[in-house]
Amino acid sequence: MTTPSWARTLVTLACRLLPAGQVRDRWREELLADLEVLAGRERAAYVVGVVVNAWALRSAVRGGQAGVAVARAARRPLGCRLNLRHSWHVVSTEDGHPYWECRDCHKTWVTVRPPGDWSPGF
Ligand SMILES: [Zn+2]
Repeated sequence: MTTPSWARTLVTLACRLLPAGQVRDRWREELLADLEVLAGRERAAYVVGVVVNAWALRSAVRGGQAGVAVARAARRPLGCRLNLRHSWHVVSTEDGHPYWECRDCHKTWVTVRPPGDWSPGF
């Protein structure tokens, strides 16, 4: 999948707020790699999230290890932060009870059915 130049440009510009050097390069590469797997509205939402959270990411990076939680929060997709869209998958407790968890923000959904699926059981 080819990422449009506008998306790459906005992410690259947002990364300019980060300290120059390996940290900036690593973040830019990681954020651009995330873009490669997204399309359409998801891609646009991701770019908006990167731009909106650029200052928070800068603060987190400058704060070193103390800012790791802030950096993780800043990298959560916009859909998760707005609680509008999650990337659900099934995981199990140690005793084998299944539940749904978001791959991106680890929010849990305690049911055996996917969110939004109100059909009778599996
Ligand atoms: Zn989520």
